[in-house]
Amino acid sequence: MTHHITATREDGTVFEVSYGYGARQRRLLGCLHCDWEEQITYGGARHKGLDHLAQAHGAVGSPTMTADPRARRQVLWAMTVCFLISVVILWWAMSQT
Ligand SMILES: [Zn+2]
Repeated sequence: MTHHITATREDGTVFEVSYGYGARQRRLLGCLHCDWEEQITYGGARHKGLDHLAQAHGAVGSPTMTADPRARRQVLWAMTVCFLISVVILWWAMSQT
């Protein structure tokens, strides 16, 4: 299982469907909260996963693949550090003249 499709219910409970390759390279969707499983023969895996979460668990998810929030924070932090360094370098260069 490589991808996770998540949806959030009104009370804040997060439901998740994992998506990836099962036996014999078949693409499979599997719900982590019930024993629902579906084999995908062509596209639309995310859509099918969200459909199940909405119908069986009443949860609504976004149709875009979401990155791990921790990874996103790390990217943001790295960008902030780069920005600060360039500000310091600029300030230093200006103070030399
Ligand atoms: Zn389910």
